Amino acid sequence: MSGALLSDANRRLEKALQYVTFHKDAAERLKYPKASLTVSIPVRMDDGSLRVFQGYRVRYDDSRGPTKGGIRFHPNVTLDEVQSLAFWMTFKCAALSIPFGGAKGGITLNPKELSKFELERLSRGYVDAIADFIGPNIDIPAPDVYTNSMIMGWMMDQYSIIRRQLVPAVVTGKPITMGGSLGRETATAMGAFFTIQTIMPKLSRRPENTTVAVQGFGNAGAVLAELLFRSGYKVVAVSDSRGGVYSEKGLDIPSIRKIKESTRSIQAVYCEGAICNLVDSAPLTNEELLELEVDILVPAALENQITEANADRIKANYIFEVANGPTTSDADTILESKGIPVFPDILVNAGGVTVSYFEWVQNRSGLYWSLDEVNQRLSQKMIEETELIWTIAQDLSCSMRTAAYVHALERLAEAIHAKGTRDDYLAKW
Ligand code: GLU
Repeated sequence: MSGALLSDANRRLEKALQYVTFHKDAAERLKYPKASLTVSIPVRMDDGSLRVFQGYRVRYDDSRGPTKGGIRFHPNVTLDEVQSLAFWMTFKCAALSIPFGGAKGGITLNPKELSKFELERLSRGYVDAIADFIGPNIDIPAPDVYTNSMIMGWMMDQYSIIRRQLVPAVVTGKPITMGGSLGRETATAMGAFFTIQTIMPKLSRRPENTTVAVQGFGNAGAVLAELLFRSGYKVVAVSDSRGGVYSEKGLDIPSIRKIKESTRSIQAVYCEGAICNLVDSAPLTNEELLELEVDILVPAALENQITEANADRIKANYIFEVANGPTTSDADTILESKGIPVFPDILVNAGGVTVSYFEWVQNRSGLYWSLDEVNQRLSQKMIEETELIWTIAQDLSCSMRTAAYVHALERLAEAIHAKGTRDDYLAKW
């Protein structure tokens, strides 16, 4: 039985199936995760006590290659959430034509409450628990919400200790010194930027007349806000988990980032500085940010931000989803009826997994690329797939989300059928 989040994710698949017909086997297969692992991770805390954390790893579908997806550390992590995130990874990799299936992992905790040493023990304990479920040809984790390159480095090291050999390709998003790729940290934002830049001329929009609000000031949101700012867009609002700031004239994003980063330097792992404490502009809540009258709204935080409850009040002209699953399927219907196009997560935020794929390729070949080469390949991929999905949306007169799912489904169905020979000799179905 699927949880509420996975059921909602599956509604995107059902919608896409209204536009194209695939063999029913592929459609049926893609409704369910291939394998879901739940683990308990005992961790010795700094004060000597023992705490047991709940962790998950889900491999959704591997028809197109080893499964791929991040690991998040967050208090709201549940099996249902991890399964839906793994579902999205499956369609994201297929939409971008990356030779991976989809997976996701997570641990339920508030990472800001743990010391650096406790986080390291937890990360290593998680890898001990899932070591037989992952591998460079099986399933390859990466960073996600509240995990970073340092944590990926610990995880790769732990896996290598277990295997008694160095296995850099088991995890992506590692520190550069441990086999990480140049450009991986900024890849999600860069990918989103390339998609936005590809779409803007089609909408007859120019950066200098375009206002933007970004919800989420983490690795993806902050870097994207800066890229847009430097290209002449007017970024009028940004927020982090504690709240946001608004300025009609546009915010000076590099200064906001600098202040936020300098606050983090006091901290070993996580930034404690909330944007709202740092700059002299009107504060606003995350909910208010979503409802601003702007040209582009970028949800870059968590899932389920635009729902049935607030979709009616959204006034943006366009939404570009940098978070995974920020819009529910009910909200999609409302936004569509209001004529607000949504550029979907499985395309817009795919830059991260694309450069993860590049990292895996570099680890396996032993030949490392320059930053220019990484970004050039990323830009080529994002532009190519954005154009293809745009064309499908025009041809089928459907939303960009449905077009992205149709595009992904075609590749997934092809792989599922290519694997199975039984259909060829069974008389009829
Ligand atoms: N966590 C990122 C995502 O949701 C990256 C996954 C990866 O690089 O494998 O796309």
